[in-house]
Amino acid sequence: MKKLYPTFSSSSKYRGPSQNTSRPTGTDLSTLLTEVLKRDNYDCSYCGFHAEEWQTLIYLDGDSTNNAKSNLTTACPMCNLILNAPLGCKVESIVELYESSRYNQNKIVQITRKMRSQGKPDADIIRFLGLKDKVPFKMNKEYLKDLFAFVTSWKGSWGGVEESLAFGYKQ
Ligand SMILES: [Zn+2]
Repeated sequence: MKKLYPTFSSSSKYRGPSQNTSRPTGTDLSTLLTEVLKRDNYDCSYCGFHAEEWQTLIYLDGDSTNNAKSNLTTACPMCNLILNAPLGCKVESIVELYESSRYNQNKIVQITRKMRSQGKPDADIIRFLGLKDKVPFKMNKEYLKDLFAFVTSWKGSWGGVEESLAFGYKQ
């Protein structure tokens, strides 16, 4: 599995609209999505979660204009919120950050999904994971990479996030 930690795509590589004319159209992107998901057997590259619904793509180099298949990998909705930490922590307020844990980030996602599907409340999951010292989100990759992200049971502000996460908890 690929190493998982809270981060976000870099905008510094953004080449600007004038050089983006070769970007694929929406149809090409959905074809690319299907091709990469099939290649990865619909398994999340970060936690191993298998699902033929709601999986998404991650740009490995953080450059969302680099649509080479070698730069794309499959992620589940939980890992996607961690790899897009501003979305998870700020926009949706659904991801919390901690300084320490008994488990690595990949395991945290696996255990959270399992315990939530068993109906365990967040407090029990946090205690089991040994998540300690909650800290605020900062738009700083160096700061984020050593932290542990916890996807809470809080319902996101956008229905799609909520629905995609709930799908995973029913598996
Ligand atoms: Zn995952």
